[in-house]
Amino acid sequence: MKIPQEDIEELRGELEAERDSLEEELASHGRVQNDTGEWEGASIGFEGEEADPNDVADQIEELATNIPLVKELEGRHTDAIDALEKMDEGVYGICEECDEPIDLDRLKANPSARTCIKHADR
Ligand SMILES: [Zn+2]
Repeated sequence: MKIPQEDIEELRGELEAERDSLEEELASHGRVQNDTGEWEGASIGFEGEEADPNDVADQIEELATNIPLVKELEGRHTDAIDALEKMDEGVYGICEECDEPIDLDRLKANPSARTCIKHADR
């Protein structure tokens, strides 16, 4: 089954919007590591301020929240980018496990799905 072009365009729009909003979220909760280009959780907005013990506690709490959050956001960001690359290569909508086409309803629910419903692990 080939995905109709109009559905591809609709899904592409959703993936691009998802990618952009994830990049904004990543920028507000983390920073890019210069050496690897990967995101890491960070506490934003405390730099240059006096080291008030309350600020330090807030900062630690923020980091504890942001590190796993950024990890999750980055995973979704990678999924969206990979899906867009597959569209460019003409292999979008193919299960990574069995090479069978992914159900269109599944793609519409989750445009960055990597697997068919049988191989869904999340
Ligand atoms: Zn499969």
